[in-house]
Amino acid sequence: MAFDLADRIKVLPPYLFAELDRKKQEKIDQGVDVIDLGVGDPDLPTPEPVVEALKRAAERPENHRYPSYVGMRSFREAVAGWYKRRFDITLDPDREVIALIGSKEGIAHFPLAFVNPGDVVLCPDPAYPVYRIGTIFAGGEPYTVPLKEENDFLPDLGSIPQEVVERAKIIWINYPNNPTSADATEDFYRDLIRWAKKHNIIVASDNAYSEIYTGERRPLSILQVDGAREVAIEFHSLSKTFNMTGWRIGMAVGNEDLVRALGKVKTNIDSGQFNAVQEAGIVALNLPESELDKLRAVYRERRKVMTEALKSAGLSPVESDVTFYVWTRVPDGYTSAEFVGRILDEAGVVCTPGAGFGEAGEGYFRISLTVPTERLIEAAKRIENLR
Ligand SMILES: *Cc1c(COP(=O)(O)O)cnc(C)c1O
Repeated sequence: MAFDLADRIKVLPPYLFAELDRKKQEKIDQGVDVIDLGVGDPDLPTPEPVVEALKRAAERPENHRYPSYVGMRSFREAVAGWYKRRFDITLDPDREVIALIGSKEGIAHFPLAFVNPGDVVLCPDPAYPVYRIGTIFAGGEPYTVPLKEENDFLPDLGSIPQEVVERAKIIWINYPNNPTSADATEDFYRDLIRWAKKHNIIVASDNAYSEIYTGERRPLSILQVDGAREVAIEFHSLSKTFNMTGWRIGMAVGNEDLVRALGKVKTNIDSGQFNAVQEAGIVALNLPESELDKLRAVYRERRKVMTEALKSAGLSPVESDVTFYVWTRVPDGYTSAEFVGRILDEAGVVCTPGAGFGEAGEGYFRISLTVPTERLIEAAKRIENLR
């Protein structure tokens, strides 16, 4: 029998890292001590009190039944409490907060609530691939908005053709940004909100990295900006903040109509996250800020080590103090895939070619700072010796 795949699967972009994966495996088979700086998945453990809370909650039979679709009230209250402390935003836990099975789940499902065939969704490039794929799965048309270095990796809204703007339902943004390590200013958010209101476009903001900063200036939530609650939904996650990528717990907050519509989709697809994971999430959201300061100190040191090594090797990493990524231009005469191949050959270090995040990522590569610091120092030494 031959099963014909659906068009939505056939049109997915090819897996760009297949060649890199093959090459990495070849090196490992040759006995090379390969250091993988490709994946953005924190190496640090989930804080102990969170793990303990899961153990306790897992033992309680009332948690063994179906959870609430929108998340436990106590989890939604903890999210609202965290937003209040961190951003000084007041959220109604009943109307403006919903629990997610990781933010990826919410990001992928959100377009199902608003996108009809022929509708456009504005997707940044380079970017986390889920904005685009969620659009395609909903039958929408992704329209690529390039993030250029000369615009500080912010979308140039004025460059989007009028007829595209008219058909657009949603614009995705993500600051602090994966992969470019750029952050957005309050002015940017203000202009974006004004523009979105004028054109009746939903602003979907992915704020997964808001706590991964190492400078004085703390990243914003779009909801801190006047008028945001009329047009915006923000996706957030415990994954990066509390080293909980494996736990699959996140949240969407903001405009109540947008939150409710996402809930409607989810009610018909999933049955919520395990209550015990939500109870552990409550403990995470209430951890003292000193816990996060420790995390930030680790990333601060790692970024310094890697940035200096790249500079010694004659490369120019983008200056940043947010996210755990270092985004660097490849030297003239190389594609991003070629240069990443060279780093693997000569240094045994895996990086991600920028083209893997979209066309506008070509010309750059991404290093993730999520390996133990002594391994990162070793990788940095090898990169420094690239000639
Ligand atoms: C890691 C990441 C997320 C978070 O994903 P979860 O599903 O919450 O683990 C969301 N957006 C971006 C851009 C990311 O890099």
